[in-house]
Amino acid sequence: MSRDKETMTNRDPGMNRQITRRDFVGGVAIAISGSIAWRWSEANAPTNAYPPLRTGMRGSHEGSYEVAHQMRDGAGWDNPEETGEDYDLIVVGGGLSGLASAWYFREANTDARILILDNHDDFGGHAKRNEFWLGDRMILSHGGTENIQDLTRYKAAGRRLLQSIGIDVARYPEFHDASVYKSHELGRSVFLAKESFGTDRLLTGEGVPSWRGFFAKTPLSENAREELVRLHESDVDYLEGLSPKEKVEILQKTSYETYLQETVGISSEAVSYLWRSSTWAIGLDAISAWVATGEGWPGTAGLGAFDQIEAGAVPTEKSLFCQFPDGNATIARLIVRSLIPDVAPGNTLDDIVAARFDYSALDSADSPARVRLNSTVVNVSHLGDPRSADEVEVSYVQGGRAYRVRGRQSVLACYNASIPYICDELPAAQKKALSQAVKAPLIYTNVLLRDWNALARLGVRYARCPGSYFETVRLTDPVSIGDYRHSCAPDEPVVLRMNRAPLDPRLRGRPASDQWRAGRAELLTTTFETFEMKIRDQLGRMFSEGGFDAARDIEAITVNRWPHGYAYGHDPETGQFAWMLDELPPERSPWIAARKTFGRIAIANSDATADAMTEGAFEAAQLAVETLVSR
Ligand SMILES: Cc1cc2nc3c(=O)[nH]c(=O)nc-3n(C[C@H](O)[C@H](O)[C@H](O)COP(=O)(O)OP(=O)(O)OC[C@H]3O[C@@H](n4cnc5c(N)ncnc54)[C@H](O)[C@@H]3O)c2cc1C
Repeated sequence: MSRDKETMTNRDPGMNRQITRRDFVGGVAIAISGSIAWRWSEANAPTNAYPPLRTGMRGSHEGSYEVAHQMRDGAGWDNPEETGEDYDLIVVGGGLSGLASAWYFREANTDARILILDNHDDFGGHAKRNEFWLGDRMILSHGGTENIQDLTRYKAAGRRLLQSIGIDVARYPEFHDASVYKSHELGRSVFLAKESFGTDRLLTGEGVPSWRGFFAKTPLSENAREELVRLHESDVDYLEGLSPKEKVEILQKTSYETYLQETVGISSEAVSYLWRSSTWAIGLDAISAWVATGEGWPGTAGLGAFDQIEAGAVPTEKSLFCQFPDGNATIARLIVRSLIPDVAPGNTLDDIVAARFDYSALDSADSPARVRLNSTVVNVSHLGDPRSADEVEVSYVQGGRAYRVRGRQSVLACYNASIPYICDELPAAQKKALSQAVKAPLIYTNVLLRDWNALARLGVRYARCPGSYFETVRLTDPVSIGDYRHSCAPDEPVVLRMNRAPLDPRLRGRPASDQWRAGRAELLTTTFETFEMKIRDQLGRMFSEGGFDAARDIEAITVNRWPHGYAYGHDPETGQFAWMLDELPPERSPWIAARKTFGRIAIANSDATADAMTEGAFEAAQLAVETLVSR
């Protein structure tokens, strides 16, 4: 299906609906009349004090980052109040790496007293749960970390953790009901926006019935259409005559954009149709043609087999995938419940998804393991000479006041780049290595729709939207576990996910770290209202022909902004991303020097393995705890 559309300016997107929005400023709920972030049956829903239920601006929410930024800008917190608390382990950061650190430490010391400190109002780091209610129905999505992409990439310790908390990836087909969308013939589509392609056009069934027929419906020039048809239909080896090893070397060094334009020889108009940046948080100007080959992107099919070449970026045939209704927040919740059983009833994967957590049990003096939220750590240091000290002290700021706790050991599972500010006593060379980590920013938005009739009419389950504000739009995966039931008919509520990598097109071609820093600044200055307007505008333009009405159909919006998103490591010699290459020698892997245990302080977080995935977060945790336990 193709169509031309007017822009949103002629329609009412619903920005002025007089319904209550609850936002959180510094952790305090305020009601704002006007645009919505929140709408549900108050009678049936749990209270908004429950962090997973909070809507509006989430992820790096107001109140979570200000202290860290003050620390970066030179602020100090003298004379923190003594809590008198003493732990065996203090973990900085309650993301999957910090939680896994606590889990591995407790595995080795069953009676250990552990404190986990995190600056957010919820645990899980990127692995956050977004929970909505409509009437008496719970509707879930993930705020960040989405899935177990491939269990075969997890090391033995990571698999042991997953298995021990009750995750059996082989059960995924039992939870996932592919027929939900298939029975309504929903598929992949492409939305070309007026700003980039001259007219708004939604094209359903990418490549259907043929590539030629599909591209004939696009507003692209005749030349670009021909180029794209050839690119999709042919299996030309554009590096013919080279050995597999030579090909890999070239593909790793060449961006996919350069490969398309210079090796394949297609126009920039055709490249703009193929543009994507939200999968890896970087555009085609920075992603290598080698990764594109692993992903099977157009123009790589004829390059031949690379079986003998080891490269992490190319997925294996036997990938073992698993996704939960709230993403890897299920993993975070399972770990927290295993550390603090009073937090929720049950002990299986089947009873975790619908379980209501008692957040007041997270930080109880009666529990050997505690999770303390809204607490930004500002200092970690040894009590005495790091070579002989028996203890460390950790200061954190909560509600504007600084507190001090003591521990026998500490794991810093926060961000590498922030560690030099927190831990001044580290050697200068290690601080330098830590500072080299720059995380990539991302925005994951969840839009609660009262039904998906419009998408069913149009046949859209997923849309790639090159050139639009949100680059991908997709319905949540139909996964049901235990008492939790995913939407199974178009009349039922569902979450629509909209992802964006905040990259300024004017910075294309510049080093990715520069683009990410600029994107991070954009993220912190973009208001929720702007996001809401962009969401309503884009969805209206994409789906109104199917009967979608943004003012009527959108029930709630949660924007998860992640200024410090994916962990990336790069080769300091070439600037190339580590995970796009074969193994690098240690001297060209700064994260190895960065994660060196210093006295009683070890370093985890996915930065420590330069691996953005959960398996990297687990491996970093296991390595950190191993060094502490073996002391
Ligand atoms: C949008 C998004 C989607 C993703 N999707 C996937 C996916 O599908 N599969 C996958 O495997 N991986 C995915 N990832 C990668 C994800 O980063 C890892 O899987 C994993 O969740 C990272 O865990 P972590 O503990 O290393 O880091 P984080 O989750 O960042 O946790 C670190 C925590 O430390 C806190 N912290 C930092 N400084 C301080 C301080 N001074 N005091 C107290 N606390 C502090 C942070 O705020 C944060 O809560 C995704 C990442 C993002 C951003």
